[in-house]
Amino acid sequence: MADDFIPYSRQEISEADIAAVTDLLRSDFLTQGPTGPAFEAAFAKRHQVAHAIGVASATAGLHLGCLALGVGPGSVVWTCPNSFVSSANCALFCGAEVDFVDIDPATRNISVEAFTAKLEAADRQGRLPQVVIPVDFAGLPCDLAEIRALADRYGFAILEDASHATGASYHGRPIGSAHADLTVFSFHAVKIVTTAEGGMVVTQNDALAEKIRLLRSHGVTRDGALMQRVSEGAWYYEMVDLGWNYRLTDLQSALGLSQLERMDEWRERREAHADRYDALLADGPFKRPARFNDRVSSWHLYALEVMDHARASRAAIFAGLREAGIGVNVHYIPIHTQPYYEKLGFKRGDFPNAVAYYDRALSIPLFPAMTTGQQDRVVDTLLKLAA
Ligand SMILES: *Cc1c(COP(=O)(O)O)cnc(C)c1O
Repeated sequence: MADDFIPYSRQEISEADIAAVTDLLRSDFLTQGPTGPAFEAAFAKRHQVAHAIGVASATAGLHLGCLALGVGPGSVVWTCPNSFVSSANCALFCGAEVDFVDIDPATRNISVEAFTAKLEAADRQGRLPQVVIPVDFAGLPCDLAEIRALADRYGFAILEDASHATGASYHGRPIGSAHADLTVFSFHAVKIVTTAEGGMVVTQNDALAEKIRLLRSHGVTRDGALMQRVSEGAWYYEMVDLGWNYRLTDLQSALGLSQLERMDEWRERREAHADRYDALLADGPFKRPARFNDRVSSWHLYALEVMDHARASRAAIFAGLREAGIGVNVHYIPIHTQPYYEKLGFKRGDFPNAVAYYDRALSIPLFPAMTTGQQDRVVDTLLKLAA
């Protein structure tokens, strides 16, 4: 990578982060020590939730979430086509059937209108979903109050994929603290807070938390209350369910705990960059991300749509930006159009708004440490190519 390359996203590692990881390496526990629970407690406090459970990745968290909600063969799970493949794969891991709800072109999240219509039809056919996985695309929270009302009416559980939404809030409450039954965050290096790889599942529900903790670690327990037999001694443990090794290590948790302190400052800086993009690109041939005053985005991505009156195609603009050393990206190829999902019977035209959005989508660089000079270079290059 050239020195002047501007990535679309970049982690921010401070000297304090390095010291925290170094201290952990000198400590007694690289995993399953006190730092995992300390990170979980800090994350839970910041998100105003009763339980936060560290996991190996958001993908692992979504898998555990499906399992804890009872998803299995015969279950139906719905999610959003405008997401990373994990949002749907987690249901397939459990042997369930997956379907999608098209997006609202304004939010780029699940459309409440399409969702309501699909639920009414599914109700008539006796094929209601057991779990729905809404995705807070780019860090903008979904229409959570409306989705909760539909969940209460039709009896499905909400497993929110908030991989983009660490630090976001909705109706004045942190994401994960209300509305969803379970909420999953990602700490992959391109995400907002990072542990290199990692994730967190949060919930207000004690029983779901207990189930996820158990399944995260082989279905094995040393907790007498969960055991089926009388303990045979201090060595004794029981496997009471079939689980995985989906733990987050103490080494990763040390980094996460240190990063968490800067989460709110980062969100503000991301928003300031987004505000500036909005102003500088106002006259360009783009649709900019919509704003909603009842929710606060974490601004994981700044995703534009290249409109038909642009001077060049989205593909040409993308190539031109990459050539100029600007790390643009496209989020997302709709999940249902992937070859694996086409083999399951989905057709490109099944979710037309997600496909129309994808055909125009362009994520331009956005990360907290981005400078005004870097941002100007992105804007100038983009306008030269497109306007
Ligand atoms: C990154 C991402 C995931 C997967 O996260 P991992 O931690 O890499 O497993 C899932 N869903 C969405 C929307 C994501 O952006």
